[in-house]
Amino acid sequence: MMVISGKTEIFAVIGDPIEHTLSPAMHNAAFEHLRLDYVFLAFRVTPDEIEKALQGVRALGIRGLNVTMPHKHAVTEFIDEADATVKFLRSANTILNQRGRLRGFNTDGIGAAKALKNSGIDLAGKKVLLLGAGGAAKAIAFTLAKEVDEICILNRDGMKARELANLLEPFGKRVAGDELSPKRIQQELNDSDVLINATSAGMAPNTSESLVKASWLRTDLYVMDLVYNPNETKLIQEARAVGAKVITGVEMLLYQGAASFEIWTQCKAPVDVMRNALLNKLATKGGAV
Ligand code: NAP
Repeated sequence: MMVISGKTEIFAVIGDPIEHTLSPAMHNAAFEHLRLDYVFLAFRVTPDEIEKALQGVRALGIRGLNVTMPHKHAVTEFIDEADATVKFLRSANTILNQRGRLRGFNTDGIGAAKALKNSGIDLAGKKVLLLGAGGAAKAIAFTLAKEVDEICILNRDGMKARELANLLEPFGKRVAGDELSPKRIQQELNDSDVLINATSAGMAPNTSESLVKASWLRTDLYVMDLVYNPNETKLIQEARAVGAKVITGVEMLLYQGAASFEIWTQCKAPVDVMRNALLNKLATKGGAV
């Protein structure tokens, strides 16, 4: 049982909306498990209050933040230091307060790569079909471009997919971006090893939606869906049914959270405790980061 005292240190997630966040359940379970005198809260911060909120973090000595929609870009304007990933993505999901100096990180790509590797795949030499070109897709593409051989990015807005592909040129890998269509997905899946849905397709209330036909899926495919509300999306269910390896949205949420936890605390994240906390919270309430 967590006891709050005058020495308890504060961590938090900021976003708007924030009521359905799963992050406090995940991080407080980890703090309790490791008997750390920390507490994790959630604050709704409106877009026009971001700068003041970060001043408040310094003033109150809040030790660390997770940042979620729609503030991942805005916070980068007001932090003191950004790592290479934040500079490239112009987006941060993690802030460490080091004696008043705010340092920004982005653990979304690391979280996705860790979740994939945890399912047994060796990413070297692989081709990834990435659906989506929003913030999460960009973070994942940036991390995977260092490891895989080829990435094909398909997005509803084809221009965004092409722009992201161009951004990844310096990595020297085969990267292409184009407009998403059923035909292109089917074609590209033929020689892909990994399929990642980084769009909101399939998210509640549109749970009967999947951009990928069940008949296009194969046993030897790794299928990852970022959507975790529900965690068993239509895509994940159909991939399981054909015997493909599946990686659910909760796994990525878990590993991006674990990476943030390790940046803040310098302790190894207790991932099994954190996963159980996430799954329990989802089972009882449903939620978002
Ligand atoms: P975002 O920046 O708003 O991007 C949304 C993406 O989804 C865009 O590529 C958009 O295409 C596409 N999209 C939305 N609805 C679509 C539909 N019905 N059909 C096809 N494409 C559609 O959001 P984000 O931050 O990248 O998040 C994307 C998804 O990943 C969300 O469901 C989010 O909850 C999830 N996510 C999960 C984690 C995790 O840890 N598991 C972390 C981050 C995000 P256009 O560009 O054409 O609009």
